[in-house]
Amino acid sequence: MAYRVKAAVFYRPHEPLAVEELELEAPRQGEVLVRVAACGVCHSDLHFMEGLVPIASPSVLGHEAAGVVEAVGHGVESVRPGDHVVLSFIPACGRCPYCAVGRPNLCTVANRAMSRGTMLDGTPRFAKEGRPVYQMGAIGGFATRTVVPEAGCVKIREDMPLDRAALLGCGVMTGVGAAINTARVQAGSDVAVVGCGGVGLNVVQGAALAGAGRIIAVDVLPHKLELARQFGATHAVDASREDPVAAVRQIAAGGVDYAFEVIGRPETIRQAFDMTRRGGLTVVVGVAPAGAEVSLPAGAFLTEKTITGSAYGGARMSVDVPRLVELYLAGRLKLDQLISRRYPLEGINDAFDALRRGEVARSIVAM
Ligand SMILES: [Zn+2]
Ligand SMILES: [Zn+2]
Repeated sequence: MAYRVKAAVFYRPHEPLAVEELELEAPRQGEVLVRVAACGVCHSDLHFMEGLVPIASPSVLGHEAAGVVEAVGHGVESVRPGDHVVLSFIPACGRCPYCAVGRPNLCTVANRAMSRGTMLDGTPRFAKEGRPVYQMGAIGGFATRTVVPEAGCVKIREDMPLDRAALLGCGVMTGVGAAINTARVQAGSDVAVVGCGGVGLNVVQGAALAGAGRIIAVDVLPHKLELARQFGATHAVDASREDPVAAVRQIAAGGVDYAFEVIGRPETIRQAFDMTRRGGLTVVVGVAPAGAEVSLPAGAFLTEKTITGSAYGGARMSVDVPRLVELYLAGRLKLDQLISRRYPLEGINDAFDALRRGEVARSIVAM
């Protein structure tokens, strides 16, 4: 049985997404049909639209989604129709070496599916006039319905609003997780966050949740710095007006214990490294364009600085998502303030234009 769905389809870079009808195949073994409630508009989607990162095409973008299970394929045990779920773009297999050592965000099977834009068996469930249409992150969330792997579904409490739950699927998990899971920020330590968009704000709030002392927000847009203060930043540095490295070093007496780069540019990665103090940790969260390289002063390694990447906030989705839901419902995790605007699916290109102009922390497409 096939379903008719409405979806936003990417055909080629530098073109608007096409909102059109697609066919959606019923879930196969180990797969789940989800009615999408909301999907966040993320910079990673924009990277594909601007041709900075390659993706299979045509493809339904959207990887920050939540919804309600409508049907399950054979053998699905962890969710059933009616369950509310947050979707994970890394549907970890549970069996590869990375899963086995407790690093499911690095799962080889899920990452292969993600880069192909397919289910775990290598094929997508969307089609247009019989021809395959791929699914970003094994999700394809800019659609009224989608089919995802069972491992890509994280069941959540039904009193959690689904539009805010959607944000947990990428931006919040990536940002909060970079601070808590990847860096393991220590209470009282000093933190700098370079880039305060949707993900950077969540690094700020992750550092605040971990009890960091000074949290220095760095950006070039005053309204983002203002928002960062609302999310827990104690200091703000406008990098369009002063040298951010010198400013951070002055505020934190020689540098910070943890510097996070949340843009994905070689220059700002270097800045984050340079504002990290001796023995400190630089965490690169931003997604750099394909082929980008960064250069670092080799002498600095004598000071025992560490630099690392963070993928999906080091997420163990089945553990972390329910925890974030509890924190939100207890009033300790800010999600409402992240949502700058809401759009219908037909308005999706306007949402990306606003993101391009840096006007929004997060926009939500509500189905
Ligand atoms: Zn994302
Ligand atoms: Zn795995």
